[in-house]
Amino acid sequence: MRAVYVRALQIRPCTRETPWSMLMCFDAFNPGSFHNVEQARKMMNLAFNFLELGPAALQQTQTWLIPMSLRQTVIDTVEGGWSACLRQYLRLHFLHPMSIQISGVSFTHDGTRYTIYAKLRCLLSDGEGLQQGLELVAYNGIRPCVRCCNVLMKGSGLAHRRRGFVEIGCADHKLFVEATPADFNNEVDQIVTAREEFARGDRSKASLDLLVKGMGLKVTAAGLPADKDLRGAFSCLEVLHEDWMHGCLQDGTMTGALSCLLEAWHSKGTLKLDAVEIFLKGDWCFPHTRRHLMVQLWRVFGYKARSSYLELSHHVKCQASTLLGLYKLLRHMVEVAMDPDTAALLQKERAAFFAACKVVDIILVLKRGHAQQPTCVRITRSLDKAADQQISKHVDAYGDQCIRSKHHRTQHIGPQIRALGFVFDAFVIERIHHEIEETFCPNTKAFETTVLRNVCAQKVAELNKTDAQRTFTSKTTLQGVVRVGAGAQHEGMHVHAGDVVFMGSEAGCVLAIAKNEFSSFVYAVVDAFSYIGDVTPTSKRWLPTGEIELWGLHRLEQVIVFFHVACGWPRASCLWSCKVSCSPLWSCKVLPIHVPPPLPQTHKPLKGTEKQNHKAEAWYADDDAVVVLQ
Ligand SMILES: [Zn+2]
Repeated sequence: MRAVYVRALQIRPCTRETPWSMLMCFDAFNPGSFHNVEQARKMMNLAFNFLELGPAALQQTQTWLIPMSLRQTVIDTVEGGWSACLRQYLRLHFLHPMSIQISGVSFTHDGTRYTIYAKLRCLLSDGEGLQQGLELVAYNGIRPCVRCCNVLMKGSGLAHRRRGFVEIGCADHKLFVEATPADFNNEVDQIVTAREEFARGDRSKASLDLLVKGMGLKVTAAGLPADKDLRGAFSCLEVLHEDWMHGCLQDGTMTGALSCLLEAWHSKGTLKLDAVEIFLKGDWCFPHTRRHLMVQLWRVFGYKARSSYLELSHHVKCQASTLLGLYKLLRHMVEVAMDPDTAALLQKERAAFFAACKVVDIILVLKRGHAQQPTCVRITRSLDKAADQQISKHVDAYGDQCIRSKHHRTQHIGPQIRALGFVFDAFVIERIHHEIEETFCPNTKAFETTVLRNVCAQKVAELNKTDAQRTFTSKTTLQGVVRVGAGAQHEGMHVHAGDVVFMGSEAGCVLAIAKNEFSSFVYAVVDAFSYIGDVTPTSKRWLPTGEIELWGLHRLEQVIVFFHVACGWPRASCLWSCKVSCSPLWSCKVLPIHVPPPLPQTHKPLKGTEKQNHKAEAWYADDDAVVVLQ
């Protein structure tokens, strides 16, 4: 870890005048299962890292430092709530004489002393977290976005009266007027003063409420925005960071577009929701690390979900990480399984859904490394355009009924990535939650201390691992100087034998992972595919060639969904559930041991034994093609 810091310091030296940029995120976490939340242990976790360490280090949770884990029951006893707690913590971190901004943090590596100074650059949380931390009025208030001076709530009835004002359904980001830190501070001070006047009896409650509502801020004297000393260290407005994961995925714009499309497909077309379940139950293949989650995707449209809320509202509920696979599958379904008449009827609705998918597609491209490249500017500009189009197409199809503040906030994601040169999102904090969950302690008395101590011990153990232990995620064998295994991780991306991967415009199936013991270079042993043609605009057809190639692990991109079969839906199967034997290395063999036949093309759900019978039938291998959903 010290070596990582030293390398980063050599590339980007750091002094008190030119400090590093600190990324900080916080989020509430409910321990326990989905149905049995342990309220007594509900907590707010906060973690930080440095932008200069680079994306490789930032993708790994063990490089994130977790200085704070606070129970909600404790936060509730504090005047000013979470905002006041955050304020106290940030004062300690940036204003104390021994803080990282003033005296820096020193460490020694190979006999040399290094000091890191840092300034807060980003403060990220989900909408609710930012609301609590920065004391914002709910996003459906009259001023739903504190970043913009001229954006009003939908249906405010005011936008047309004042020149230059728009509402959140505005599909042209160029019309927004950005608020300055001085504007923000001024507004905060006005409200704090108004609160004092109200306490003295010099101002009515109605007048105070009007001010709070109009400015979109419910700040208090004890909260973070009101801290005048901290304003010297950073501006709340400038560090506020929108999270695309919550904006697009978790009950966000993508889920909205999907729900609306299903509703339209159901009411105007022929869709039955159980058909979606069957489609998702097809033998889709997913990357090894996600398989256990992804094979449960059908539950989003399962009988339980359908009977409790889906049939009524068509509102899709799903975790953000699973939605990344779900949207690709459902886009494929819309493209290949919608009959032509319905497709012609639902042109606008389809366009709205595809526009929402495009926003996520572009963010994923940026996340895979383009955010750090010169291509970032061009791609983020196309993201700006895609975010605008997402709104215009949605309004075109459904009117502005379903437009929410999340649509508007997505329009801020492009400029944000352009300025930072990195896609900073809440997937990091989600992984940190899991890390904390793994080290969980039963007590509630000294809960915070125990959690932090356990997490710290786990991090030290993780960092003390050797290179090979950190790279490989499976058992390995040493063949001469080459270590071979079935699974490995690189910058948080887990690759396993059987996964399909991209390297640039090429695709292939991973057979094994190999690493020379005397070098840090790790490569995937891949069966390279040859490209046959497009199936839909977002899926391609490839043929395994049997030619073994070595692809650098750092150059790979993982494919989230693929299937192996001829055509049609839900015919899908997995060829590469394989056993790798690697001795010697250069003659890796892949043995297809599980080749289930396709499910029949029917809308009738299959029962357990029925499905088993289908699997027992002979396979249909007259076409070996692999279809990859991009
Ligand atoms: Zn805005």
